[in-house]
This record gives sequence, structure tokens and C-alpha cells, in this order.
Amino acid sequence: MGFEKFGHVSFTSQTKTEAFVDYLSKNEIRATKCRACGRVFFPPQADCSSCLARDMEWVKVEGSGRIISFTKVNYGPTGFEDDVPYILALADFNGIKVFGRISKDTPEEQIAVGKEVKAEAISLPNGQVSYQFLPA
Ligand SMILES: [Zn+2]
Repeated sequence: MGFEKFGHVSFTSQTKTEAFVDYLSKNEIRATKCRACGRVFFPPQADCSSCLARDMEWVKVEGSGRIISFTKVNYGPTGFEDDVPYILALADFNGIKVFGRISKDTPEEQIAVGKEVKAEAISLPNGQVSYQFLPA
């Protein structure tokens, strides 16, 4: 599956990490981990920007994470104009920092720094795949 299947609006058709989309279609959210230095990357990177190694492995983002920061988007960028409002958050999953949307079904009063969330892969109405956060 190509990277054009990722996200609400995809601006990229090919990357060296398009296996990310295949994992999402199997309900797995994955990051890449450098086999040389151990650094973990999300979004996944094919090359390590710390030690420049190209030997990466895919690791699962699982369990629950904690919200580090979040913001409500009221004015969407190109392609997202009709999708607002939505909430973007940065959450820490055992040291892997994951940026994504919080499920639209989540009441806003349940969203706060320090709250636990789970990440889940989702299929969008237009056939694209993505992921989102839910309260844990
Ligand atoms: Zn490295």
C-alpha cells in the first residue's frame, strides 16, 4: 500500500517509510528505532538523524500514553477546512512522542495535560487510513 493512503489528506505518495501505512491497515501504529544507537522516531524515519545509520527496525506504539500538550484547531489548513474543529495532541508513549488527533467523540473536558490516552488505527470514510487518540 502506498503512502497516498495515509491521513485525511495525503500530500505524499511515496516515502521510504510507507510500510507505516501497511501497519496501520493491520491496526498497528509503529515507529522506527535505530539499531545502531537506539533512538526511536515518530513519525517514522528511514535514516537516523542522530548517528546517520540506515539500519532501522519497526517498533509498536502500544499501551497508554500521557498527553504532553494539545490544541484545538478552529481554522483548518488546506484540505482540512471542512473538518474543524478538532483537537491535536502530543502524547508520550513510554518515551515515544506521538502527535495526532484526539477522537471527535471525546468530550473536551476529558482532555488535559497528563491524561492517559490510547492510540488506535482508523479507517476514514474516504478509504484512507490514519490513527487517533482515545481516552485510556
Ligand atoms: Zn542512530
